[in-house]
Formats: sequence, C-alpha cells, structure tokens
Amino acid sequence: MKHSLWLETVAFKKYPNLDREEHVDVCIIGGGIAGITTAYQLRNKGLKVVLIDADQITHGTTGRTTAKISAQHGAIYDDIIQHYGQERAQMYADATRMAQTFIKQRIQDLNIDCNYEELPAYLYTQKESNIETLQKEYEGANLLGFDCELLDTLQLPFGVTKALKFNNQAQFHPLKYLQTLAHEFVMAGGVIYENTKATDINQNEYGTYTVSTEYNFSVHAKKVIITSHFPMYDHRAFIFAKMKPERSYVLAINNASPLPHGMYINLEDPTISLRTYNDGDLDVLLVGGQNHRTGTSPDTLNHYAYLKQFSKDYFNSDDVLYEWSTQDYVTVDYIPYIGKLKESNDDIYVATGFNKWGMTNGTLAGLLLSMQILGEENETTAFYSPARFNPTIHTNNLMTYTAEVAAEYIKGKLQKGEKDFILEPNQAAVIKQDGDKYGVYKDDEGNVFMVDITCPHLGCELSFNTAERTWDCPCHGSRYSYKGEIFEGPSHLELSCCKNKIEPNIF
Ligand SMILES: Cc1cc2nc3c(=O)[nH]c(=O)nc-3n(C[C@H](O)[C@H](O)[C@H](O)COP(=O)(O)OP(=O)(O)OC[C@H]3O[C@@H](n4cnc5c(N)ncnc54)[C@H](O)[C@@H]3O)c2cc1C
Repeated sequence: MKHSLWLETVAFKKYPNLDREEHVDVCIIGGGIAGITTAYQLRNKGLKVVLIDADQITHGTTGRTTAKISAQHGAIYDDIIQHYGQERAQMYADATRMAQTFIKQRIQDLNIDCNYEELPAYLYTQKESNIETLQKEYEGANLLGFDCELLDTLQLPFGVTKALKFNNQAQFHPLKYLQTLAHEFVMAGGVIYENTKATDINQNEYGTYTVSTEYNFSVHAKKVIITSHFPMYDHRAFIFAKMKPERSYVLAINNASPLPHGMYINLEDPTISLRTYNDGDLDVLLVGGQNHRTGTSPDTLNHYAYLKQFSKDYFNSDDVLYEWSTQDYVTVDYIPYIGKLKESNDDIYVATGFNKWGMTNGTLAGLLLSMQILGEENETTAFYSPARFNPTIHTNNLMTYTAEVAAEYIKGKLQKGEKDFILEPNQAAVIKQDGDKYGVYKDDEGNVFMVDITCPHLGCELSFNTAERTWDCPCHGSRYSYKGEIFEGPSHLELSCCKNKIEPNIF
C-alpha cells in the first residue's frame, strides 16, 4: 500500500486493543473523521464513550484524503434545489457551513497547529457545454448565501472556459487536527481501542447492544454508532445498494511551478483536483483525481502516470514525493447517509456516503449524530436520514446503480480465464478451473498466491488493482490483499484459496 503525505508527516499516539468487557453509553465503531468528531462531541456532553478501530485511528480514508474543507462539493447546489427544493438545499448549505465553523473553532480553541489556511475554492470547466451548468450552480449557490463569483479566466497554466469561485474556504493537515481531537477525547475520559475489529452487533433482552470483536471481549452499549466508512453492519438497510464505490489518486509534487493560489477541481472527466501544502519543510502541490468506479480500471498504475505527466506538462515537475489512492462512497442523491440505520432500529446509527467531501460531511456527521444521541431531532437530521426517499432522484439513480452493478456482475462472469501464461514478478492473472475463477499473483520474491476471486459479499468477480496489488470488487467496493485478507468494503469474509462462501452480511 502506498503512503500518503498525511500519514508520513505526523507522530501517532498508539492506543491498546480491547482487553476487557466494556459497559458504556455509546460504542463508536471506526476512528476516521466521522468517528473521532462524534466521540469528541459526545464525551464533551458527559457520555461514557468507547471508540474502537480495526486498525489505527485516522489510517483509513481520512488518512488518504486531500483535506479541502470546502463547501463547494462539485456542482451540487442547483441539483439539490431542483430535486429537494430551496428550503432543503439551504439546510445542506447551512449544515456544511456549520461543519466548517466547527473545525475552525476547534483549531482556534485548542490551539491546533494543523496548517489551516483559508483560501478560495474554484470549480472550473474547459468545455463550452458545461458553461450552463456552472452558470446554474452559481445562481443556486448565490441564492443559498455563498460568497461566490463567476470568472472567465483563472491564474492557472492552462485555459478554462468558465470557473465558479467560492471565497473563504479552507484546507489543512487532517491528521494533525484529528490526533488532537482524539487526544482531547481521551483526556476528557473517553476510551480508544485500536486493532480491534467489530465483527457483529446484537441487541440484548434489555434493549442494549453487544458489539462483538475479533477478541474474546465485547463492548456493551446503550447506543451504537457505525462510522466504519462502509458500514460493517447492514441489518437489511441495504445501504450497499444505495452507494457507489469510487477510487481516486493523489500525488504530492515537489518543486512544482507555478504554485496555484487556492483549491481547484474541474467539472468534467478525467477529474483534476489541485491544492498546495506548506509546513515549512515541505512545499508541495497535491495533484489528484482520475476517479473511477472501484474494480473497473484495466491498469490502475496508468492513473498515477497520467497525473505525473499532467504535473510535468503544467507545473514543470514530476518529482513525486508521495503518492496514494483511496476510495469513497457516492450516494444516489449526493447527500450523505447520517442517522439511524433503520427507522425501526432505535439505537444503531450510521454515517457514510460522504461523496468525497468527508472533511465537512464527516464533521457534520459528528455534529448531527451527537445531537440525535442526545434526543435532539430536527428537520436537518431528518433530511440526512439513511431512510429518506425522493421518488425521482432515488428511483432514477438507484436504477442506474443497480444496472451498473448488474453489468459488472455479468461482465465478470463472462470474462474468460487465461489458459497459457507466464507470470512475471508483481503480475496477476485470472484462471478458470472446474468452472470457477481464480486470481493468481506472483510477488517480487517469486512466491505465487492463488485465491478464489468471486466476492464473498454478493458473488461479483473481482479484478486486480496493479497499483495497490489488491483484488477489488466492481459491484460494492470490497477490497482484498492478494493473499485474500479483507482491506475494506461490505464483505466480512476473506478470500479462500479453494471456494469462497458467499455471505452478504446484510441480515
Ligand atoms: C482521493 C480522495 C480525496 C478526497 N479529498 C477530500 C477533500 O479534499 N475534502 C473532503 O472534504 N473530502 C475528501 N475526500 C473524502 C474524505 O476523505 C472521506 O469522505 C472521509 O475521510 C471518510 O471518513 P470516514 O470517517 O467515514 O472513514 P475512514 O477515515 O475510512 O474511517 C473509518 C475507520 O473505520 C475503521 N473500521 C472499518 N471497519 C471496522 C470494523 N469492522 N471495526 C472497527 N473499525 C473499523 C477503519 O479502520 C477506519 O479507521 C476525499 C476522498 C478521496 C477518496
């Protein structure tokens, strides 16, 4: 796995693994930005809280973000106005601003040195056909009170046809910020267990919950919050069917020139996202993008190559100091799922589907979930509910998502295995044996690993990710090492070398 700049430039405090039975008010599963913010908020309200993480906290997607704290979430405001009306679009805008203010306030109050910088954010296009979209987005954003303007040119080393500028946005080092928040949580009496994977949640006869872990110990809680990025427990909420997994790539470029002032993202494909990072030692340009549905890229190394060439062409350097990739989940209506997992499930909550805007959406999750845990429901919490249903947008996009999954499922089944092949080191191939597909990978030392590549989650065929050396599922985003261990996604079973058991983990 490649390392991100954020993970390489901060000292981590290590927390123990679960070594006792815990009885608490709230158990939080997953220590990314959503889980840590929720934990911090709830402990400050006086609740007894345990946060468990399968790995080290902040080492998931949050450790591999680009960390723009922006309310400019692509061209979204006009869409929300069209589908949900101005009142709800205002809720989304205000909620996002509330999250931005929360981060800024914590940084000031706790005196966190996390390279926080306020800058404009630009959404630009290089296509005439997108001008109308940007014009409408400008009108929508203006209506909702954003300080924004439409521009014909930008101070970038390439031309644009139109750009939308949001003033007063921000960027930071997310892990310096979150390590402090986690520390404050612990100092206030909160407890963190790392390397403690939650394996199941069961309701007890008294209405409380037992969160089982991979150890013999459990956390017993009145309420459970799942912030594991992809929810590790679904209970027939079918969240996996309402989200699309998308991977993106980031390079940190040394000696880039000219360094742009501000944060940039384009409207079209292939996506390009730009921001700078300067901490006194490092002064780099982050070039990101190249989004694609997980498990559908023929060669993921090409995405790094594209971004490297782009940096060389426009910023006169291909000196890559760090490179990394990660994935996030996109919901059918581009609004995150934050709230009760199911209407009937009183005390299990979830936060996911941040649509690549988890610095604000994940922070917002912490704010909304802590309100809900304390019994404060309002129109905003209802708007973000995972159970919401908008007939036009949900029906259309759910059909599209389902069709995409079906297409990937069928494509995987029709794909022929290779018959005669010679594997070079660090190469993979798919073979067919007794009607089943197997993935074979040869590592740098010449060891060969074979796994059944039918995803244990719902039976889609996995494809090899050359850059990360993982087997990735194009349907719902589960990812496995070439040895078969699970890295992320909805699946909870490893790949076996023989035949995988298919177990959806939704009941
Ligand atoms: C390339 C890229 C760039 C991005 N850039 C931006 C940006 O500029 N601005 C922005 O706002 N957003 C951005 N995002 C989105 C943002 O990074 C994510 O939405 C956010 O980090 C997700 O946070 P999280 O807390 O939900 O998940 P994570 O950070 O993944 O945390 C989940 C945690 O849960 C743990 N976990 C998982 N399963 C279990 C289990 N069974 N038991 C216990 N623990 C478990 C994991 O170990 C992990 O630590 C970007 C996303 C990508 C892919």
